[in-house]
Amino acid sequence: MAKYNSNKLHIYNTLTGKKEVFKPINDGRIGMYVCGPTVYSNVHLGNVRTFMSFDMIFRYFKHLDYKVRYVRNITDAGHLENDADQGEDRIAKKARIEQIEPMEVVQRYTVDFHNILNTFNLLPPSIEPTATGHIIEQIEIVKAIIDKGFGYEKNGSIYFDVLKYNKSHHYGVLSGRNIEDLIHNTRTLEGQSDKKNPQDFALWKKAEPQHIMRWPSPWSDGFPGWHLECTAMSTKYLGESFDIHGGGLDLKFPHHECEIAQAKAWHNHAPVNYWMHANMLTLNGQKMAKSTGNNILPAEILNGNTNKLTKGFSASVVRFFMMQAHYRSVLDFSNDALLASEKGFLKLLEAVKTLSKIEPTQDSKEFDVVEWKSNCYSAMNDDFNTPILIAELFSAVKYINQIKDNKTSINELNLTLLTKSMNEFVFDVLGLKNKNSNDQNQKLGETVELLIKMRNEARANKNFALSDKIRDELIEIGIQLKDGKDGTTFTLD
Ligand code: AMP
Ligand code: ZN
Repeated sequence: MAKYNSNKLHIYNTLTGKKEVFKPINDGRIGMYVCGPTVYSNVHLGNVRTFMSFDMIFRYFKHLDYKVRYVRNITDAGHLENDADQGEDRIAKKARIEQIEPMEVVQRYTVDFHNILNTFNLLPPSIEPTATGHIIEQIEIVKAIIDKGFGYEKNGSIYFDVLKYNKSHHYGVLSGRNIEDLIHNTRTLEGQSDKKNPQDFALWKKAEPQHIMRWPSPWSDGFPGWHLECTAMSTKYLGESFDIHGGGLDLKFPHHECEIAQAKAWHNHAPVNYWMHANMLTLNGQKMAKSTGNNILPAEILNGNTNKLTKGFSASVVRFFMMQAHYRSVLDFSNDALLASEKGFLKLLEAVKTLSKIEPTQDSKEFDVVEWKSNCYSAMNDDFNTPILIAELFSAVKYINQIKDNKTSINELNLTLLTKSMNEFVFDVLGLKNKNSNDQNQKLGETVELLIKMRNEARANKNFALSDKIRDELIEIGIQLKDGKDGTTFTLD
């Protein structure tokens, strides 16, 4: 039987402000869309946190035996500076500064994004569509919104008529903002653009002559609005109504509010059942952001090459640090917090290793493994509460260490159950890794150490033919062994 049948999962839905029992549209299947990066610069650790939160959620769904179609886009056009409807395209700007093609910018930072997420052990989504690959779909939606009377043209650009929409729908359902406040707060911008009202947003923008990222449309050579991309890509792959839409909390307004408005104006029903928002990573109490320079890059953490840290930390330690916070809580990054996480993470790994060597006895004492396992699931079923899950894992760590010290015992049945659940939660659900096995050099080093050990064993057994063969064949590969007082070391050509 699929695990989701015996787990009542509750998800906090931003749309209702409540934790709700999760019920997918189709039994056993989940459609999930998460707003992806705008690929105009290296991702910082704050971006990684949001994608990691949804990776943990994706992993837990899979663990519960759901079939998940997880769509996470790449924004490679249409996202202007300051998230505005005026100004330069972020990617085109970078291309201008670096004197390369916009698509070279896109390629460079898409590759960087994939490498980094892979380093932090994020699973790839099921589909990763790009905005520029869906221009035709976006034009079709703009046409439909105009037909329904919610879009208007001005000088080759198309805008969404927020005030008109708000007469028959509610602009602000998601963010809780009301239209009067919005009007009040944006009045100063009046008269500065083609919009009827400053709350309106662009569905299609006519490109200025110097704007190179442009496509033909019935209205002008131009480019789609940023909000429209996600509506087009989510609908194409998940349908007009789907289960989950996620993103960082900073995207709730206006980006997600506009996605809802576009979808309702277009096909008249709510696009998403559960809106999920991951909270921000801060540094010195301020949101990590590209624009302010208040951020840290993944590479700086891994190699420790920054004055913000006393040393480097492995990707799994950083992942463990993030999983110790609930995805809806703000998390502040600091050297001390990482040092503490490293200690905790090593203790957890050590216990998993110890567990694999424990011999069962006739009886089990003190610790109820069945109840513990159920507590682990309860934590995750309560809106993915990873900090509580980790606290549960540490009560198992305590028990494991007591068994090791012969202070208590475990029978075979419980040992099997504890081992399986520990491994599933630590490695499959939290996505932690035993070692940073992405590091090729580390893998090579460990492989050579293994061969040195085998060579020493061969020598001890007086099997000199084998020990010489190991040494000579390593030389062929370009690895030189050197025997010294303190054992054997090696050098690479
Ligand atoms: P962007 O490339 O700017 O569109 O951002 C990509 C994703 O990273 C979005 O979902 C943002 O909400 C998220 N994000 C940006 N800054 C932070 C931060 N400091 N902490 C967590 N998530 C962030
Ligand atoms: Zn989006």
